[in-house]
Amino acid sequence: MSEPTTPPAPRVRSLLSPGRYVQGPGALARLGGHLADLGSTPVLVADDVVWGLVGHDVTASVRGAGLPVHRDVFRGLATAATVDRLVGVVRELGADVLVGVGGGSTIDSVKAAGHSAGIRWASVPTVASTDAPTSALAVVYTAEGAFEEYRFFPRNPDLVLVDTQVVANAPAALLAAGVGDALATWLEARATAASGATTMAGGAPTLAGTALARLSWDVLWDNALPALDAVRDHLVTPAVEKVVEANTLLSGLGFESGGLAAAHAVHNGLTAAPQAHGLAHGQKVNLGSVTQLVLEGAPTSEIRDFVEFTTRVGLPNTLTEVGLAVDDVDVLRAVAQAATVPGETIHSMPFPVRADDVVAALRSVERFSTRVRAEAGLPAPVRHVAPH
Ligand SMILES: [Zn+2]
Repeated sequence: MSEPTTPPAPRVRSLLSPGRYVQGPGALARLGGHLADLGSTPVLVADDVVWGLVGHDVTASVRGAGLPVHRDVFRGLATAATVDRLVGVVRELGADVLVGVGGGSTIDSVKAAGHSAGIRWASVPTVASTDAPTSALAVVYTAEGAFEEYRFFPRNPDLVLVDTQVVANAPAALLAAGVGDALATWLEARATAASGATTMAGGAPTLAGTALARLSWDVLWDNALPALDAVRDHLVTPAVEKVVEANTLLSGLGFESGGLAAAHAVHNGLTAAPQAHGLAHGQKVNLGSVTQLVLEGAPTSEIRDFVEFTTRVGLPNTLTEVGLAVDDVDVLRAVAQAATVPGETIHSMPFPVRADDVVAALRSVERFSTRVRAEAGLPAPVRHVAPH
């Protein structure tokens, strides 16, 4: 006779989303009205470059809604010290909404500080280079720029507002980096759906989370190349609108509620390699995506198509392009060890992954991607040199 066993508890599924998403050319003009729904004393956090580009329109919109304009100068990275300083600014002004205007570091710092200060927060990305603006988590880095921790919050931003003309005015390379981040979303959600692992939303993936990740992938394969050409001339076309939504909203919902896996863990590992410093998040993630496909033993045609497409987009898919080489075994081992620490999302893959597997996958990518590119008549990889 066997012992009676307790049946396992049913898996809970979960999906998170921002309170409101607003996107379009000229959307900044609506910022003040939406902020007035959230509070009476906003603080606008932006670095000097971003403020020079959009400060005038942001100020006009916020004033037009009858709100005071307090602007805080953002400097540096999303570090614990940066977050603590912003909490101090909020307390000093008695602010009730913190608004991150700019790129990923500004927005992640604002999310973490808004949560710590116990007030509401909003994301106003001026580039579509990551899917960070919509999520309920922030990535905090060390002062040296290495990955330190994910910080999770009980809520997503109350507002995500994207002015697509502002995004189209930014360098196309930033949009390309966002495409790298968003392509990974489907590869990772697919792996998480297969393993049934817990997502950042705190449960198994919903059908919606997985489907939005897939939609992001399909939209990008159809629209990324014409959108990048349009943005090179600072034009907003329907393809640009679709790619901005895929990079920001679909990928944001898709990674958070569909699940991260090997690609982002490899990215986090790469932040430990000084040679890779100076690359955008989505650029490092793209090498992580190729690495994940190799770890999965994906069909050769699938890896080849991915390498060709991401080369056309302008994303790295070789070690050379992240400043590394096949013979840098010690560095690659450090990257692989960081990518496989307990708790990393690589353990959401539907099979066990060891550091040795990651080293082998990373080393194999160099020759394969270089060959695929040569056979397709695409440019050879150019070595990344980290800034000092
Ligand atoms: Zn990402």
